Amino acid sequence: MNLQAYTDIQPAEVDLGAHILVVEDEMAIQELISLNLTQAGHEPLVASSALEALDRIQDLLPDLILVDWMLPGMSGLELVRRLRSHQRTQRVPIIMLTARVDEADKLLGLESGADDYITKPFSIRELNARIKAVLRRRAPQITEDPVVFKTLSLDPATHRVHANGQEISLGPTEFKLLHFFMTHTERVYSRTQILDHVWGDHVFIEERTVDVHIRRLRSALEASGCDQLLQTVRGSGYRMTALF
Ligand code: CA
Repeated sequence: MNLQAYTDIQPAEVDLGAHILVVEDEMAIQELISLNLTQAGHEPLVASSALEALDRIQDLLPDLILVDWMLPGMSGLELVRRLRSHQRTQRVPIIMLTARVDEADKLLGLESGADDYITKPFSIRELNARIKAVLRRRAPQITEDPVVFKTLSLDPATHRVHANGQEISLGPTEFKLLHFFMTHTERVYSRTQILDHVWGDHVFIEERTVDVHIRRLRSALEASGCDQLLQTVRGSGYRMTALF
């Protein structure tokens, strides 16, 4: 038996990097982008065609997709339209990459449902800035920006949570759960939606696991009174709200 293999297993860490799918048929660009994404702390996935991308997405719903407009077979534009027409991929942030500079094309790209648009050639700096901006807008729970809601504050970079000025200690799942709710306040989320956002949709976990972690999170927040910010909405799910 190889004991080394067991000791090498690390406990799961809170993963703040985003899973970013790069759909690009030019290998040099694909490699350059994915190297850069890795350096920026993200986890890149690659596909060289729209069909390969759809295949990839079936296994794992990425946090963001970079799509080249000109792809062999199905175009990037068509891929974006498809993703937007399916419930599972409807809300995935998408940035289009293209050599076309025409304003009309740019509009077409945005009308197809892309969140942003980058014209080739682009600098790595520009790409990183756009990715950050789109993630901040569409998926704030995976950025490292500190979040404040009422008397709660959470800092993803230092992994610290304060409630009413007191530091509280949370397990990794409760931390992610709180981060998600603090960046998505005043809206009800079902257990399935919470699983998708916090655990990732490729993980098959029972819905009542959500209840278990919500309970742990509430009991950690109880002393500060901040547990009241997290409401159970009967028959629907949970909501973080300032109105209680
Ligand atoms: Ca191309």
